[in-house]
Amino acid sequence: MTLTILGCNGALPAYGRFPTCQILDVGAEMFLIDCGEGAQIKMQQYKVRSNRVNHVFISHLHGDHFFGLIGWLNSQALLGREKELHIYANEKLKAIIAIQLEWQLPYQIIYHDLVPNESQILLDTDKYEVISFPVMHSVPTHGFRFTVKRNKRMMISDKVRECEVPQYFYKKLTLGFDYEKANGEIIKNEILTTKGKPNLVYAYCADTLYTETIVPYLQNCNLIYHEATYCNDQLDKATARMHSTAEQAANIAKLSNANQLVIGHYSSKYKDISGHLAEANAVFEHVVLAEEGLSIEVK
Ligand SMILES: [Zn+2]
Repeated sequence: MTLTILGCNGALPAYGRFPTCQILDVGAEMFLIDCGEGAQIKMQQYKVRSNRVNHVFISHLHGDHFFGLIGWLNSQALLGREKELHIYANEKLKAIIAIQLEWQLPYQIIYHDLVPNESQILLDTDKYEVISFPVMHSVPTHGFRFTVKRNKRMMISDKVRECEVPQYFYKKLTLGFDYEKANGEIIKNEILTTKGKPNLVYAYCADTLYTETIVPYLQNCNLIYHEATYCNDQLDKATARMHSTAEQAANIAKLSNANQLVIGHYSSKYKDISGHLAEANAVFEHVVLAEEGLSIEVK
């Protein structure tokens, strides 16, 4: 699981920093998280194979989080995309996209509405789980928690063969079931399998006022992204505009018992963002500053 930052700035692009966009590579595919203006330029620059994206998550409908989407959707068509694309966003996005497209895309977009103020399970497969959770901003806004499931039990092939477990039962073995032979003999699961690896979890906390209501969704994440638009010198402005400071972001990571924190969404007021790092580090040790092109292995 690797997170790549394609845009790390706040509402205005500034000092070469682009508005918010991230790619989460989960192995078999990639998830696109927000899609600020210029996103596809950055995808090209950092050689992101975005045709592997089948699921797009848009936190809220402020322009710095989705103005790059229409261009990318159009380019996907020009590049020959035929497979369907799922977009998870506020219900208004569908009409906004439709009004900008005067031609029929050669692939289908399937919209999934994020319900304001609610947490939803957006994806739940053998391999991944994605949930949304509400954050506090001036329009309905959601964060997302991405889990790569790795905790299935691993089969001990010699034992499985020796006990003549049929292939159709393999999936159940990985889920912890005992196997019952035709003669009624029970083979305990722990004889046939070993423990799996812990899950990997990344949580994306989009534009938000400082709120500890999100902490239950963030427990024991390997990596958390939390916006840090301002430093504490602008705490009043952060509060008035429903954003957070670097110290507040670090506090959320600490309360959540995260392994690592990445901060971003810097105000264009700050050319130098080293103050954000110092402020966050005073509260939480493992902090990384988001910057375009940065890739972080989630571990
Ligand atoms: Zn924003």
